Amino acid sequence: MKIAIFGTGYVGLVTGACLADVGHQVLCVDVDEKKIQNLKNGLIPIYEPGLEPIVKLNVEAGRLSFTTNAEEAVAFGDIQFIAVGTPPDEDGSADLQYVLTVARTIGRHMQDYKVVVDKSTVPVGTGDKVHAAISAELAGRGLSLEFDVVSNPEFLKEGDAVGDFMKPDRIVVGAQSERAVSLMREAYEPFNRNHDRMVVMDVRSAELTKYAANAMLATKISFMNEIANLSELLGADIEQVRKGIGSDPRIGYHFIYPGCGYGGSCFPKDVKALVRTAKDVAYDAKLLSSVESVNDSQKHVLFRKLSEHFNGKLAGRTFALWGLAFKPNTDDMREASSRVLMESLWAAGAKVQAFDPKAMEETQRIYSDKDELMLCGTKEQALKGADALIICTEWKEFRSPDFSYIVSALKEPVIFDGRNLYDPERVQRKGIQYYGIGRGLSI
Ligand code: NAD
Repeated sequence: MKIAIFGTGYVGLVTGACLADVGHQVLCVDVDEKKIQNLKNGLIPIYEPGLEPIVKLNVEAGRLSFTTNAEEAVAFGDIQFIAVGTPPDEDGSADLQYVLTVARTIGRHMQDYKVVVDKSTVPVGTGDKVHAAISAELAGRGLSLEFDVVSNPEFLKEGDAVGDFMKPDRIVVGAQSERAVSLMREAYEPFNRNHDRMVVMDVRSAELTKYAANAMLATKISFMNEIANLSELLGADIEQVRKGIGSDPRIGYHFIYPGCGYGGSCFPKDVKALVRTAKDVAYDAKLLSSVESVNDSQKHVLFRKLSEHFNGKLAGRTFALWGLAFKPNTDDMREASSRVLMESLWAAGAKVQAFDPKAMEETQRIYSDKDELMLCGTKEQALKGADALIICTEWKEFRSPDFSYIVSALKEPVIFDGRNLYDPERVQRKGIQYYGIGRGLSI
């Protein structure tokens, strides 16, 4: 099939590369000329495990190409994927300007039937808006061409995006017409060989499914963080509680890790947008609002612990920070807990020596003017002469560090572990003071 994809970010590029990898002809289009030029030169703009080899392979095989020419892309694809950003607007709602710009572009250039697919995460009712935008453009051209708008939200996880796309748990397709469903089946056929993963539903339900999924995952995290905070006050250990509840199959072990708050480009904005959507229909989404506020305060937990430990005297101190990305295996810093922490430390007059396996360039780009931030080439370098070690991201390489080196490199052997990577007793036996999240009396 011939497929056009608008947006070559995390979702668009992974979608394009994976669809090309199973044999489709894919043309990716972006307004960012530098990004497209880099992609044409074989430079991948993001870090995502396994992405670079399949992009290269499919470019070389002639199945994947890149352009800034939207007209060419519209003419090219029988299916037009919209995979552009939907950042939060000032009132928390999803900003649809990029999605609707693409819709108008498609309407301006299309000459025959197209399936237009919303892959971006968009609020319920956006399918109708995309339909209206395309119809208006067609009417302006005096045309009444047939087209269908489909909702096909993306569930990939950054850090495991290629694997998720290649072996999806489900492929949600919200569509009104048989013709569109049949084309979507054809596009996704290669991913359905083992069993049919396509869940076909109406457009609005598909749009809500994506928000419901992310809101559920965010709820699990905020729930665990709330129990972790209670554990501290009650002298219980959240890690033991976690194992105790996870063993119940109705609860399960997945996604119940406490920590210093969730971040990323999806959970914070999608929970906010769903709260906003609820408001628009005069519904007060109390649970979702609490999920958001629990997370906002959880992002300050490490700073509070640091402040208490150092009796409020943080000015002039230097802290080693391991982990900048919002989660492991990505370079994405959007809404990362590390940012809230660093900004609080700087406001208190402290400095940060930071290391992350993949997010150094992105951190440099965001905080290029920050003298209080020193980016270090290794995790060991970040420790040298620091007053304490703080951990914000659970990268594998942080899990079994050389604790005696930590003791020798830090001014004072103390760890603030925002991801509960270590056993408090073992760390304390090595002469290190340890603060975790929800670790009862050991905090
Ligand atoms: P991103 O910011 O990484 O990429 C968006 C891309 O769209 C950018 O390269 C931008 O230049 C491009 N763009 C903007 N306007 C354009 C236009 N008119 N024509 C062509 N390209 C245009 O965004 P992302 O993280 O890939 O997210 C895209 C959507 O997918 C969002 O709605 C997001 O919520 C959703 N989503 C993201 C993830 C994730 O893990 N990142 C997972 C599932 C769903």
